[in-house]
Amino acid sequence: MKVLITGANRGIGLEFCRQLLGPSFAVTELVACVRSPASAQELLSIAEGSNGRLRLVALDLSADGASGRGADGLAGRIAAVATTEPIDLLINNAGVYLDEGRGVGSFDFDAFRRSFEVNTLGPFKLLKEIATQLQPGARMLQVSSLMGSIGDNAGGGSYAYRSSKAALNMMTKCFAIERPEVLSLVVHPGWVQTDMGGPHAQVTVADSVSGMLRLLQCAKPEHSGRFFNYDGSELPW
Ligand code: NAP
Repeated sequence: MKVLITGANRGIGLEFCRQLLGPSFAVTELVACVRSPASAQELLSIAEGSNGRLRLVALDLSADGASGRGADGLAGRIAAVATTEPIDLLINNAGVYLDEGRGVGSFDFDAFRRSFEVNTLGPFKLLKEIATQLQPGARMLQVSSLMGSIGDNAGGGSYAYRSSKAALNMMTKCFAIERPEVLSLVVHPGWVQTDMGGPHAQVTVADSVSGMLRLLQCAKPEHSGRFFNYDGSELPW
């Protein structure tokens, strides 16, 4: 199985790499996209023990990114990452949460733009580049957030993060309809103990990732285009 994942150097993405390279998964190649491969120390040490199965590649999903060449630069960077071989599992995991709790009075257009670049447009530029490599039976996991659920929104605020994840959810639903032969799942990882979730979060990163991988393994074609919690329960859009 060939896997491509973004945001692989820390948090949930790093744990996906750890677990996918374990004995429960027949991963032959794991393409781990990170912004800065040279400084991804934990991932580099996992790569050392992976018998060459883990490959680190540089990919910044923001439009200006490391190269500063705008949106075309992003397409070029993605094209450099993508190969022509089939990909069995795409995990769009990288994300930013730039406006935690902020209300309309502190609305920040720059945070809004950057949230959409990384959380929404980046994953879809990547998907566009490798869509032909996702052949019948391939799977895609969009690591979204319950914060992107309109039906569940009781707290308000965080306009940029919530909207960017809601848009990711809608785009994934559209893709699931357009390409029914690819199993496309939207998943909320839980409130997870990472840099983003903080130390008081409810779910360990190991439990979150093992739950999402169980969900992926159990999912059937009729689950495509639907929104799930990491524990397998279904969530409202
Ligand atoms: P995290 O610890 O903050 O890690 C975020 C990852 O995204 C890092 O690898 C980071 O790379 C990468 N990233 C950020 N900006 C990027 C860019 N411009 N281009 C490429 N990669 C970029 O967060 P996490 O908790 O693991 O979150 C992973 C996913 O779960 C996110 O999509 C997040 O929205 C979602 N989520 C998390 C929680 C939670 O409680 N933790 C809850 C709901 C949803 P750098 O190290 O280079 O910054």
